[in-house]
Amino acid sequence: MVKTVALVVAAGRGRRFGGDLPKQYAKLGARTVLRHTLMRLISHPAVDAVGCVIHPDDRDLYEDAVQGLPLLAPVNGGATRQDSVRLGLQSLCDAKPDKVLIHDAARPFASAALIDGVIAALDTQPGALPCVVVADTLKRGRDGLIEDTVPREGLYRAQTPQGFRFEDILKAHEQFAGQELTDDTQLLERIGLDIALTPGAEDNFKITTQEDLMRAERLLAAHGETRTAQGFDVHRLGDGTFVTLCGIEIPHSQGLVGHSDADVALHALTDALLGTVGAGDIGQHFPPSDAQWKGASSDQFASHAARLIRERGGEIVNVDITLICEAPKIGPHRTAMVTKVADILNVDEDRVSVKATTTEGLGFTGRGEGIAAQALASVRLAV
Ligand code: MG
Repeated sequence: MVKTVALVVAAGRGRRFGGDLPKQYAKLGARTVLRHTLMRLISHPAVDAVGCVIHPDDRDLYEDAVQGLPLLAPVNGGATRQDSVRLGLQSLCDAKPDKVLIHDAARPFASAALIDGVIAALDTQPGALPCVVVADTLKRGRDGLIEDTVPREGLYRAQTPQGFRFEDILKAHEQFAGQELTDDTQLLERIGLDIALTPGAEDNFKITTQEDLMRAERLLAAHGETRTAQGFDVHRLGDGTFVTLCGIEIPHSQGLVGHSDADVALHALTDALLGTVGAGDIGQHFPPSDAQWKGASSDQFASHAARLIRERGGEIVNVDITLICEAPKIGPHRTAMVTKVADILNVDEDRVSVKATTTEGLGFTGRGEGIAAQALASVRLAV
């Protein structure tokens, strides 16, 4: 049974943010703001399912942003945030969760502890609001002059995710449909239900302006971890009419010999990717003794490694492949190789580099007995 569902409200247009894209689809590091936000919820052990309310015009942006993430089907939002939340809640009527968290798409740094606090408070109260104490002295101003000092005692800044018992918040949203209330706890306040104040965090800020996005970039750089690993592979040249390198078939007087398609470049790349998350090597994941990999296209090895990285909350920063051979010439195929590798890993092409070198006629590659490849991969892991 689904106990706790998180509903992320991503239907806004973000007019204060400027630019062509709504802020939730802006890039923050290697992924969109929305993807960061969703991954925090998906990876939380007490959240059983996560869904999004989106703007119908953003369907393509959304599909792009959430690729590969386990999510409920998205729901189209309404004219106001309140309408959007109501439509999102109504979409959960069949699932009937006990608890629901309602979260802003543009708050990518809700910590596990903050989410824990909200969910735990719902065991004793109908609502829970993460918030931070107002520390600055507050002034009321008019026409550029101070009019008054506002006592800050007992004042808090409200954040999200705000937590509710599903039945209560659905009923409140249906009752107050059409009214403009700025956050969801306000609806519960209207019907007189108690809402617990739980610890929020300064890092759990909402990205509203370009300046906020820069602050988020700095935070990401400070909290994330970049890991780099290498891979190396060799395959022997034998009978054949083509070689497969970086997923591209290149006509040649010989072929590469191996259990799979013997794509040394993708094998080295797969090992580099696996190395970034300590996930062993290609032989452990795809044993040559296993008949199902006979003649297999090596795309699936590399895409499997990329998927493992994403499942661990990581994103590929860049990969760099060097092919070592006298022939065939790699130059004419380099662009196609970059495009192919970017496609396999689902990253932008400027994150993929393919290079080639000879060994000046020396060694096994120099004698044309085989082709070697080495690869480096860097990934960014959220910590
Ligand atoms: Mg190999």
